[in-house]
This record gives sequence, structure tokens and C-alpha cells, in this order.
Amino acid sequence: MRLKNNAFRESHMEKYYVTTAIDYANAPPHIGHAYEKIAADIIARYQRLTGKKVFFLTGTDEHGSKVEKAALAAGFESPLAFVDETSSKFKEAWRRLLISNDDFIRTTEERHKKVVQEVFRRMRAKGDVYKGKYAGLYCDGCEDYLRETDLVDGKCPNHQRPPQHSEEENYFFRLTKYKEPLRAWLQEAECHVKPDGRRREVINQLDDPELGDFSITRSRKSLTWGIPVPDDPDHVIYVWVDALTNYITGVGFQSDEEAWNTFWPADLHLIGKDITKFHAIYWPAMLMSADLPLPKLVFGHGFITVEGQKMSKSLGNVLDPVYLAETYGPDAIRYFLFAANTFDQDGDFSRADMVATVNKHLAMGVGNLLNRVVKLLDTHFEGTVPAVSIEQGVLDALEKDTAEFRTFMDEFEFAKAIRSIFEIVDKGNKLLSEREPWKLLKEGKLEEGGQVLVTAMTMLKRIAILLSPITPRLCAGIWDQLGFDSNIESVIFRSSEFTDPILAGQKIRNKGRVFEKLDELTENPAPVPTA
Ligand SMILES: [Zn+2]
Repeated sequence: MRLKNNAFRESHMEKYYVTTAIDYANAPPHIGHAYEKIAADIIARYQRLTGKKVFFLTGTDEHGSKVEKAALAAGFESPLAFVDETSSKFKEAWRRLLISNDDFIRTTEERHKKVVQEVFRRMRAKGDVYKGKYAGLYCDGCEDYLRETDLVDGKCPNHQRPPQHSEEENYFFRLTKYKEPLRAWLQEAECHVKPDGRRREVINQLDDPELGDFSITRSRKSLTWGIPVPDDPDHVIYVWVDALTNYITGVGFQSDEEAWNTFWPADLHLIGKDITKFHAIYWPAMLMSADLPLPKLVFGHGFITVEGQKMSKSLGNVLDPVYLAETYGPDAIRYFLFAANTFDQDGDFSRADMVATVNKHLAMGVGNLLNRVVKLLDTHFEGTVPAVSIEQGVLDALEKDTAEFRTFMDEFEFAKAIRSIFEIVDKGNKLLSEREPWKLLKEGKLEEGGQVLVTAMTMLKRIAILLSPITPRLCAGIWDQLGFDSNIESVIFRSSEFTDPILAGQKIRNKGRVFEKLDELTENPAPVPTA
């Protein structure tokens, strides 16, 4: 196992394990998938900054009839060949968006099949799995059960005929046995489901007498593309037991003892709000049954619309993250999504708004501050940091803004955390416009002018570090221009690199604009569909 930081060897360090939902591999990624992966990446990078050893897992959910059908429709020789291609598109998109995941799990991998079957065996040995009758609406054309909500005028939308009532023998999981311990877990003082509205919703769902034991398999007749039930290959393990288990496979359950002991339980399962029930009821119940510790926190985030509209194939507004990263750069996408939206609520992505926002904040706000400072240092000090002192008041204010940033980041309030960083940006720009170091330097007041520049550099250093989880490429550029030779990703809060002042004699590197202004859009361009 290779981690993005070198912290793994330092066993005394705190750990942090963050997961995303695994995406269903029946279609390529869109901006909605990207939203969650970027959020998890921001959290992972921030936790590395706090000095924890971090493990960050994402991946793809690759079994099920829908994948099998999509593979067939696209003319692939096998479902596996199809998911090989789809999962590689997800990987490519995350690479372009600078997602720093430590592993990428695919549920078709051997390591995962073993774990799913082991979990099934454990639950069965506990007496929590039994055979029962499953009844539902079965479409012969789809070779699958449909939900009431899938039907259009009582008919299968794909085959324009009504589905048949059908029954089959399934294995069921004894969820009802775990309702009491689940309720106790959900009501613990240390909140395990956030935001709190979601937690209350889940408690209500748990109290609903309709929520009974649930089916965890399908007969081979209605599901072939899946993991067989151990010792009973006529039955195939159905979606939730297969998909949710990825979180323990990915962190070495039964394969890498050191990783498993270090990182499980997960500190955070980051998921879309629509699957909170499965993560806050089904999954902890399965873990209780398998005698495994429960995750510390499940967080259900809001959804992203595109230009005010829900994404849909028919509207053609399903934006391709690879296209977006190529056209606007990863920092612009990452920054806008989290500066402009409140993470626990629904949000929006508009290209015209994104361009206007990043131009104002990143090109003008941060970029101009850096640009003016390095130019003046170049002209008046031959690019070398002069030996001057910095006012204590400025340093105190930096600590205050940093503390505020950390408080918001710890609560996943990204937009507010970003605003705390821009307190520093604004103070830096104000310092320059009020003290006018260019005038001081022209008048030969080198000490005074130099002091303003080094103060602004100190602020820029802090801005670069705090903003680096959100816009890693931009911040690496700032770090470089400020003259640091180290990798900004190796900085942690308690290191001297974070706390030390900028040293006299350090050579800056004036490389021009660190963030090029994007062309303003008067209206949003036509949607570009996913590849
Ligand atoms: Zn059908």
C-alpha cells in the first residue's frame, strides 16, 4: 500500500480514512460524480495538512443487470470489457481533476469478491441470513425486477409492456434484529450521521414498521453479473452487500493486516444524500452482524444542478469533467464548486458564474497580490527577501484567520473556510494599496518598503498553504514563486515550514501570472455531453 504522504511509517500519528460512494459503471462520469470526489479530495488533503496519516478510497460499482445491459447495448464482448473501459474513464477524470486517492477499488476485482463472500458467511454464521420469498414486478425484456417508480403508465419504459408479478427465493438479512442497537448508535452524543436533518430522517426511517428484513440476493435467473453466494451458486449477491463492502476491501480487510488495523473504522463515508439510509442503517447493521467496528461518520451532501437544471441525458446537460478540466483547468472547477455552494445543501454549477468567480478571486485577488509583490522584489531587491521585521499584529491576525479556517474545514463548511482565507487575501491587497510600497521604494525607503513586501509574502505563504487542499496546482505555483524548494504537499501545520517566517536571503522566482484570467462568458455555452 502506497500513501500520498510519508506519514504511514510514523506509527504514533493519528489516522484518517475517507471514502466516497463508488460510482455505478454503466455510464461515464459527470460533474455530479466529480463534485463528491473533489470534496473528498479537499478533505483528504486538509487532513494530511493537519498531520494525520490519511487513506483516501474511491472506485466503481461494477456488477448488476444495468451494467450487463449497457455492455450488451454498446456491443461489448463481455460486461467485464465494458467496465474495464468505464472505470478507466472515471480514473482518467479523477487524474485530470487532481484527485489524490490512495486506491481505486473496482467491485469486479478478486480481492473484493473474497471479502463480499466472507461478509456473507459471517452474517449467515450469526443466524442473520435466511431464505424467503421475494415478490416483485419482473420484466422479461429487462430480465430484472422493476420498482413501481420505474414504470410509465404501468409499463416498462424500455419494453412498453407491463411487468409481471413474480416471486423467487432470495436470501434475506435480518435487519429487524439490529433496530435497537442501530437506534442507540444513531442517538450517541458523538454524531455518526450528518447533517443533523439527515440523522433525524434516518431515525424516522428506522422507526417505520415497514422497514423490515431486506433481500440481499437474486436468483441467477434474474441476475447473472454478480458475486455468487458462497456454497449456493444459484444465488447471486445483490447490490448493497456487494457495493457497501468495498469500504473494508479497499482498506485491507483479510488481505493487509497493517492497513486494516491502522485505518478501519472509516472516519468518514462521504455520500450523496439519497443513499444515506443504506449507509446509516443497512451498512452499520451488516457490520454489527459481521462483528466489525462501525464507521465514525456518514455525511450526506447535497446535489449539483447544471445552470439551474437537474442533469439529464435528455436535456443534454450532463457535463463531462474531463472536458471541463481541459477547458478551464482543474483549479477553476474545484474552486468554484466549493466557494459558491453550501456542501450540505443542493448547489449549482454554471460556467459563466465559474469564470466570473475565479477571475475575481483567483486571477485578481490572489494572483495580483502575488504578482505585485514578486515584481517589486525583483525590481528593488534583485529578487532576494530583505532582512526586515514583521509586525506582530499581522502575524496574530494570520493565526486568527487560520483557526477560523480550520474550524470550518472540520465541519465540511468549505465555502466559509474559503472566505476565511480571503480575509487574508483582502488584508494583503489592502496593505499594498494603503502603504504603497512602490512609492516608498522609489523614494529610497528600502527598509519600510521591504517590510511591506515581506509582510505580504508572509500572508501569501499562508494563503498558499490553506488554499492548497482546494486549488493544489495554483498553490504549488505560488509556493514556487515565493522561492520555496520543497513540495507544498509535504507541509503540515505543526512543521517549522508552516510556522517559520520567510527567511531573509530567500530567492523568489518571478514567473509571471500564476493564474491566467479565463475569457469571460456572457452566457453559458451549449452543453458538452459526456464522452
Ligand atoms: Zn423491460
